[in-house]
Amino acid sequence: GGSLHGKSALVLGGSRGIGAAIVRRLAAEGAAVTFTYAGSRDAAERLAAETGATAAMTDSADRDAVIARVRESGPLDVLVVNAGVGAFGDPLEQDPDEVDRLVRINVTAPYHAAVEAARRMPEGGRIIVIGSVNGDRIPFPGLSAYAMSKSALQGMARGLARDFGPRGITVNVVQPGPIDTDMNPADGPMKDVMHAVMALKRHGRPEDVAGMVNWLAGPEAGFVTGAMHTIDGGFGA
Ligand code: NDP
Repeated sequence: GGSLHGKSALVLGGSRGIGAAIVRRLAAEGAAVTFTYAGSRDAAERLAAETGATAAMTDSADRDAVIARVRESGPLDVLVVNAGVGAFGDPLEQDPDEVDRLVRINVTAPYHAAVEAARRMPEGGRIIVIGSVNGDRIPFPGLSAYAMSKSALQGMARGLARDFGPRGITVNVVQPGPIDTDMNPADGPMKDVMHAVMALKRHGRPEDVAGMVNWLAGPEAGFVTGAMHTIDGGFGA
């Protein structure tokens, strides 16, 4: 541990699942971590007590609240945007408001959070967004809105890497495949369908993703930017 000693980090969406694992890892590496939550106050407070991180209620569906949270968090060395939702099903049957809310959380919030963080981010700063292998590959129906949002992050990262590269700030996307969380339980009804297209026929763990985020946030990854980092058990292979 200790690779992020003295660094300041904000994790948007840190109360559960992959985000909570990222909070634990960045805190264990010595970063001063703030994380946001929307619905899971109890889990957020427990995680804060466990890790020494600071929990802050901020709904990622609210663009201005996200921008204000980033600003209030002070100059950040590391921004991780993990908050994300799914809206799975037949597009002909989906509630358009649910799709638009997904876009606000999965696309609008990451974009504005990244831009706001970059205003005061020092040289060596890191912007890391959690996308999905579904940004690259959609082997099943019912994923269109979710996939649209995760592909959007790819263009965002490529573009912002160019915009902020001259200041020594990197922008990267981490693209998990099936990871055992509330969103995608390892024993859920879709497990066999997902495992069938994977090289490793199992779910990954939130800690696996947190390890990749930690590496991207750390001193060894300074030359890595504008890139997609897939960690998917071969889902997209
Ligand atoms: P979970 O549903 O298990 O957890 C989601 C986390 O995001 C929670 O901490 C939740 O906080 C937070 N969050 C959701 N909506 C909001 C919101 N409006 N405002 C603030 N925080 C919010 O998801 P995962 O951990 O599985 O997923 C995390 C990320 O990883 C997402 O972006 C997801 O798309 C991506 N991903 C996940 C995969 C998987 O298989 N699990 C695969 C590929 C990508 P709260 O409960 O407090 O609202």
